[in-house]
Amino acid sequence: MSNQVIDKAESAILHTYNRFQVVFDRGEGVYLYDNTGKQYLDFASGIGVQSLGYGNEEYKQALKDQIDKLTHISNLYYSEPMAEAAAKVVKATGMNRVFFTNSGTEAIEGAIKAVRKYAWLKDGKHDHEIIAMNHSFHGRSMGALSITGNEKYQEPFKPMIGNVKFADFNDLDSVKALVNEKTCAIIMETIQGEGGIYPATEEFLKGVRKICDENDIFLVLDEIQCGMGRSGYMFAWQEYGVEPDIMTCAKALGCGVPVGAFVLNEKTAKGTLAPGDHGTTYGGNPFVCAAVSKVLDIFEKDKIVEHVKEVSVYLEGRLDELVKEYDFLETRRGKGFMQGLVVQGRPVGEIINKALENGLVIISAGSNVIRMLPPLVIEKEHVDEMIEKLKKSF
Ligand SMILES: *Cc1c(COP(=O)(O)O)cnc(C)c1O
Repeated sequence: MSNQVIDKAESAILHTYNRFQVVFDRGEGVYLYDNTGKQYLDFASGIGVQSLGYGNEEYKQALKDQIDKLTHISNLYYSEPMAEAAAKVVKATGMNRVFFTNSGTEAIEGAIKAVRKYAWLKDGKHDHEIIAMNHSFHGRSMGALSITGNEKYQEPFKPMIGNVKFADFNDLDSVKALVNEKTCAIIMETIQGEGGIYPATEEFLKGVRKICDENDIFLVLDEIQCGMGRSGYMFAWQEYGVEPDIMTCAKALGCGVPVGAFVLNEKTAKGTLAPGDHGTTYGGNPFVCAAVSKVLDIFEKDKIVEHVKEVSVYLEGRLDELVKEYDFLETRRGKGFMQGLVVQGRPVGEIINKALENGLVIISAGSNVIRMLPPLVIEKEHVDEMIEKLKKSF
């Protein structure tokens, strides 16, 4: 049966992914089921999206209720879900204003436009520069790709948008060397995800913030993957005591509906985008906002972030045991429920395929990292089950 589905999909869908040979049919809690009924423990969450797991009753009901009422009206009008969701995002971030998008990539595009607008208002010039990081990932559209530090992704699509320079993540001197009077923003992930799970060091993040403060440069933190509780903090930057001027968010923001956001502090909210500068047809429609609103309610009510903090200590302990036990595991990197195991001398893809065969969904990052982004509601017993299945796959 799965082959029929796969053949049908491959006969019609553009071949931009080499997909795993599995057809997922439904999800329940922290488990996925394929169309033969086989169960899989999910330690990937649809790439860090399904933070509440599958089938959360309250979440499902909120979406069903909103579908019955109203799903879309455009941004020419107000809706109650939009007002609710926006107020809750502002509260959760402690920032000033939010713009809802349909994806993480679009949140990045909005942030790029905001920083360029500010710089242009200041001196009327068009030569402003953005500093981004090597091994970063911000999305695949031309703007987001232009600040993504991955030559392979960029090469076929050049020219990129101009005036982007790349520094080395966690190397403050490499950032300082690129700063000049044209620099308008420094953009980076608080914890690099696709690049291989590299958390920013405190020294680096604080140092970058200082550079920004001293030179009227905006700090844009991409929290699309590491935000929304995944790091053990609601937003990863909150652990560092460093505030961004603009933050991007998506993936788990709607826990399965396509929604992203860029969130601005008071300075950037007042001094950048104004009516006429930016827009979206779908962005922040009542349906996705009902999801965002309910997600943030559930996070608060079920103390999701505290749960991550608690259970991730156990997860890290068990992963560290693996690193000691297996020679080909070089180290573990990560925070909270965003963890990477660095593999040496064995192809990561084979381990991930084996794991899938053994009923465990994990993904990769960079060229040699096993990446784990489990739903934030996993318990210790699920960690144990994952370890068992992973050992079997080794
Ligand atoms: C996934 C991701 C994006 C892109 O988000 P999309 O929703 O796929 O457009 C951008 N930045 C980071 C850090 C991501 O992990």
